[in-house]
Amino acid sequence: YIRLNNICKNYGNSPVIKDLNLSVRKGERLVLLGPSGCGKSTTLRMIAGLETISSGNLYVDNKRMNDIAAGKRNVSMVFQDYALYPHMTVAKNISYGLRVNKINHEEIQRRLKKVISILHLDGLEQRYPRDLSGGQRQRVALARSIAKQSDIFLLDEPLSNLDAQMRIGARKELLKIHQLYHQTFIYVTHDQIEAMTLGDRIALMDKGTLQMLDTPYNTYNRPSNVFVAKFIGTPS
Ligand code: ATP
Ligand code: MG
Repeated sequence: YIRLNNICKNYGNSPVIKDLNLSVRKGERLVLLGPSGCGKSTTLRMIAGLETISSGNLYVDNKRMNDIAAGKRNVSMVFQDYALYPHMTVAKNISYGLRVNKINHEEIQRRLKKVISILHLDGLEQRYPRDLSGGQRQRVALARSIAKQSDIFLLDEPLSNLDAQMRIGARKELLKIHQLYHQTFIYVTHDQIEAMTLGDRIALMDKGTLQMLDTPYNTYNRPSNVFVAKFIGTPS
C-alpha cells in the first residue's frame, strides 16, 4: 500500500536516510522504532510530503508521490510538539483544516462532535490551547488529525509529553480510534513498550537504515542482528 523504494535523504553532505526499503500494508499499524537521531521523524515527514526525497521513490497505492504536495496527499500527521494554533479555540483548531478543505458546515459539526466525544474533550471546545494541560493539548492535536479522516495517519511520538498513567489511557484511545476508522497508522516512538502494544509490526531503524521489520513477537524473540537484540533487550 505504502512503499518506500531505495529512499535516501541527505542534509547537505550528510546522509540521514540510507537506501530505505519499507512496505506498509493497508490498515496496518506500523511502528517506527529506533534511537534518537536514527531518522524516524525524517522518514515520516517524507511520507507526509513535508520533506523532499533526495533519491528513491515513494508510492501510495502504486501512485508515485515524490512530487505531490503535502496538501494533496491523503495523510494527516500528529507532531511531537502538537503544533496547535495558539489564537484559535479547541473547536476552531480541530475544524480549521476542514474549513480550508471546504467541507460543509453540517459535516464539520458532525465530525467535531464525534472526535470531541472519542477523546473526552467535552466542555473544552471554547478554551484556548494556553489554558489546557499538556495531555489535553495532545488530545486536541489527535482530535484534529482524526477529524480529517485521512486514510493514512502519521504520528510522531504523540504521547512523549504525557505521564505514564496518561500514556496507558492514550494508547487505549489510539487503538479504539484505529478500530473505528481502520486507517493505516505509522507510529514513531523510541519507547519499546509503546511499540509492542501498538504495532502490528515494528520497523527498527538505526543510523538511517532499516535493521528489522517484523512482528513485536519476532522482534523480541528472533532479533535479526546484535543491534536489534541490544535495543530490544532480548535476553541472550
Ligand atoms: P528523535 O528520536 O530524537 O526524534 P529521529 O529518529 O526522529 O530522532 P530525525 O529527526 O529524523 O531523527 O533526524 C535524523 C538525523 O537528521 C539527525 O542526525 C538530525 O540531526 C538530522 N537532521 C534532521 N533535520 C535536519 C535538518 N533540517 N538539517 C540537518 N540535519 C537534520
Ligand atoms: Mg523525531
